[in-house]
Amino acid sequence: MNKVKEIIDTAKSEDRNVLTEFESKELIKSLDLPITEQILVGEDEGFEGVKKACSTIGYPVVMKLIAEDVVHKSDVGAVKLNIGDEDDAKSAFDELMKIESQAKKSISVQEMAKEPVAEIIVGSLQDAQFGPTVMFGIGGVLVEVMEDVSFRIAPINDFDADEMVHEIKGFKILDGYRGKPPADLDSIKHVLKEISELVYEHQEISEMDLNPVFAYEDGLKIVDARIILNN
Ligand code: ADP
Ligand code: MG
Repeated sequence: MNKVKEIIDTAKSEDRNVLTEFESKELIKSLDLPITEQILVGEDEGFEGVKKACSTIGYPVVMKLIAEDVVHKSDVGAVKLNIGDEDDAKSAFDELMKIESQAKKSISVQEMAKEPVAEIIVGSLQDAQFGPTVMFGIGGVLVEVMEDVSFRIAPINDFDADEMVHEIKGFKILDGYRGKPPADLDSIKHVLKEISELVYEHQEISEMDLNPVFAYEDGLKIVDARIILNN
């Protein structure tokens, strides 16, 4: 079975319409888009399981609490960055396990992605009037306030993707500023096109947020993802 359908069907069979970060990123990875390397460790595997995952990924790592009822992870301290060794991993694990949740808990151990040229957002939603749409913007708190995003009806072509990237005010941030190199626009446009096709073909995906995507001079990496299915 096609991996996208498999992940969607699993969630539906468990009566869930919000995919976890781990599932959302696995789904995106099956489109051959780059995500941070990730290993999911169940609570029952304990710290031993986490330790093994950390050494497989290689320090420094990131650890996140994955639970159905934890949606905005950093708000509740569920994201631990830049874990340098086993001692750090143990304290991060203990802290993550203290976070309150009624749901099944797992730990996602991830590679620590290197600092980007810019953090961007790629999203989608099913619009009541236009159907599936794709969205693009610069990541970070400030730009959320500025509402500096571009939208198109899915699926989009190369021309649309190029316009989407260029028409936001924050384009300057991608174009190299204060001595920073410019971001790899082709890889951003590729993600926009792939996501627009995904949400066109799978209209049961009602909403998606890739936030942030780390944009580099060469390529990019999807660091966090959230996919919501319609009921
Ligand atoms: P939230 O659910 O709060 O949005 P995120 O997974 O987006 O949680 O993590 C919060 C922030 O931590 C991100 O915006 C990013 O700056 C940083 N971050 C998360 N995962 C990684 C990673 N694997 N490597 C580097 N930085 C990360
Ligand atoms: Mg996020």
